[in-house]
Amino acid sequence: MRSGVWHIGTITGIPVKVHISFVLVFLIFAFPNIGLDEFWRLFLWDSLFVLLLFSCVLLHEFGHALTARRYGVGTREIVLLPIGGLAMLEHLPEKPVQELVIALAGPAVNFVIALVLSAYFLFYPVDQLIAYANRFGPAPIFAHPLLIIPVLMLTNLMLGVFNLIPAFPMDGGRVLRALLAIRVGRVNATRIATGLGQIFAAGFVALAFYTSSVLVGIIGLFIFFAARRELKVVRTTDFLKSTSFSQIAHLPPLIVLYEEQTVSDAAEAMLQGQDWPILVQDGQGSPAGVIEPVQLQPEMVQSNPEAPVRSLMNTQFAVLNESVPLQAAIDSGARLLLVLHKSDHSPICVLNRASLTRLIAESSNA
Ligand SMILES: [Zn+2]
Repeated sequence: MRSGVWHIGTITGIPVKVHISFVLVFLIFAFPNIGLDEFWRLFLWDSLFVLLLFSCVLLHEFGHALTARRYGVGTREIVLLPIGGLAMLEHLPEKPVQELVIALAGPAVNFVIALVLSAYFLFYPVDQLIAYANRFGPAPIFAHPLLIIPVLMLTNLMLGVFNLIPAFPMDGGRVLRALLAIRVGRVNATRIATGLGQIFAAGFVALAFYTSSVLVGIIGLFIFFAARRELKVVRTTDFLKSTSFSQIAHLPPLIVLYEEQTVSDAAEAMLQGQDWPILVQDGQGSPAGVIEPVQLQPEMVQSNPEAPVRSLMNTQFAVLNESVPLQAAIDSGARLLLVLHKSDHSPICVLNRASLTRLIAESSNA
């Protein structure tokens, strides 16, 4: 079990996981029945309802995931939380129209389930069920076998409608973002959709205080933070795709040593170079290796200060031209990176994973 998530199986190649807090749902349902003679009978019916409901939520998420697959977008995993499910897509589809269809597929599943379940009324007319429910009293609504299907049908209708509220990151927010993206581009569309999402989130939190509903409050906070995160992700992705190394004003300084120089030279150079990686060149002046800051711990430098840097350097590094987008550096998967000038191919800077992340964070916030 990783970070409170329980892997319950893999369906059509997609891992399905349940968050441990899901147990709370059963407890919330069971709580009002504590002390009743029929506790265990009610508990079983409540639990059956919860399982059926979350099977519907799971089908909703598979609606997203399998539609995304048609557009070549994989799903890393599906996670069930007490407030609903999440299909973690590997990335956004290229075209806004594809995002639109993927977003609509989830609620569509709930509407189809509701439609299928409505066949139940052919066997049990609505007025007969209402009379039954009245006789039975409103409290243990799931406790009678006759009512579990109609309640499930109504819940699916509500889920479909609720998910279409245009509050990003809910499906309705994604629909809105996709529609806006066709006209104003993805970053601006996300800015508008997540802004609206945060207004809805504030509304949910206010409603939570007004109705003393913890669940509504949690949903509000979830929407608020998820909207903020999405905006950041989309902004960063856009920045990485549209910005090349040559467009960055403050690339790290290039610090160069020769193979014959010593570990103590490297330590000194790194101090002056503010902790960026160092390029090591051979006798002909060609790049031969890279030394990272973590390799120059004080104890290491003190114990063998006269060792040649050659003995320390990493010789595996990717070479990129400064005119390629930053995304190419990430896609290369390389841990160490040498960036070259676009015309004369002379070295400009050396990066490792940590320094690349630092560079991106500094530049994308500028
Ligand atoms: Zn959905």
